Order: sequence, then C-alpha cells, then structure tokens
Amino acid sequence: MSVSTRARALPAIPATELPVVGGGVFPVRRIYCVGRNYVDHIREMKEADERDPPFFFQKPRDAMVPDGAAVPYPPLTSDFQFEVELVIAIGRAGRGISVANAGEHIWGYAVGIDLTRRDRQRDARDLRLPWEVGKSFDASAPCGPIVPASDVTPFASGAITLSVNGVERQRGDIGQMIWNVPEVVAQLSRQVKLGAGDLIFTGTPAGVGPVVAGDRIIAAIEGLPPLTITITPPEA
Ligand code: MN
Repeated sequence: MSVSTRARALPAIPATELPVVGGGVFPVRRIYCVGRNYVDHIREMKEADERDPPFFFQKPRDAMVPDGAAVPYPPLTSDFQFEVELVIAIGRAGRGISVANAGEHIWGYAVGIDLTRRDRQRDARDLRLPWEVGKSFDASAPCGPIVPASDVTPFASGAITLSVNGVERQRGDIGQMIWNVPEVVAQLSRQVKLGAGDLIFTGTPAGVGPVVAGDRIIAAIEGLPPLTITITPPEA
C-alpha cells in the first residue's frame, strides 16, 4: 500500500514564541542552561571545584512560559525552588564561535527563572543520574520579554535580583558570573551548533530557595523588563 496522503497525523504543534520589547515575537528553538556560574551559589550548593569548566543541560522548548504565567506546583517534589538568571537569545547560528565574535550571534537578552525540583536534583547528583527530573519539566523555564541587544548595554555588570511576595531572596551582580556572556556562547558552541532562536540561561547567584502555591515571584535584572510568575496549586 502506498502512502497516498500528506495529511498531518495530529494537529500542528504550537510554536513557542516570546514577545520582543518594542514589538514582534522571537521564535524559540532550544533552551540551554549553564549548570554552575556563580561562586556563591556553588558554595551554597556545596558543589565541586569552583574552577570547573561550565556544563550545560537542556529544558524542553515548550517548558518556556512567559511573563505573567501561572505555574502549577509540579509533581514529584516537596522542594520546588527558583533561580533567577540572565537569558541570552541567539539570533545567528554558529559553532566553534570565538569569544571575540560571540556578540555577532546574540540577538537579545531577557530575565529568566530556572525552576528546579531541588530534592530531585540532589538525588540525581548523589546517584550520578541525569538531571532531567530535577530540571526539565512542564513550565520549568519562565522567560520575560526579549530586549534586542542593540537596545542594551552589553552585560558585563548589573544587579540581578529575585523577590518572593515582596521579600528579596536573591541579589547578585552579572559581573560575578564565572563565565561571562561571550564565554558562555563560545563554550556552548563547542559542544553543539547553536541555532537562531536558542535561549541560554546563564546560571544563578546565591539565595535560591523554595516556594509554595500562592507565592508571587518577581525576577529582575538591571536594564531589562522584570519577569513575574505566580505559583498555583498542583494540577488535578
Ligand atoms: Mn540554574
């Protein structure tokens, strides 16, 4: 029997897009995250060598939720935590990108939150298992609107903060990143070919902690629009 139709077997998968400040949308291709990038957070996690090269993990593209999202408390955890992070939006594909050329591949920046099942992440570390259950789940990658790189000062420094119900919980400075923005782009592009539409979450400063249903989280980075999410009860 020959295949006689090109009909789609299922409805089309919706695109994942982020609003751009000033108008338009940014299509999301892949979501990468840096595992450790601030010394004070490595110390609070009692992690390994502070001079280790960066490592990367991924979240599913459709784990991205926008500013204003309601994020249901996820299953399989009793220690659901926030991590405020600077997000790099890639606009031009490339691999083996040099630190000097990294800027040519960056389309813009946003504020993101790397939501984490901390208990499951610790299990994975202790049992030497993959990180997915701790890091890569539904609605685990809130990301604010993207500001075109041409509209912001290159990110060498600037306050990065997160508050829960109006109480500041995280405060750091982009200048504390172990691997800075061009270095993160260069390092990741040695591992994979970066594509237009890729997002890279660049790691979090100290102060990470748990949230519960009803909490309102505001993540902010100097020079970018803030990102607000609300944690809602677990989905039925
Ligand atoms: Mn993180």
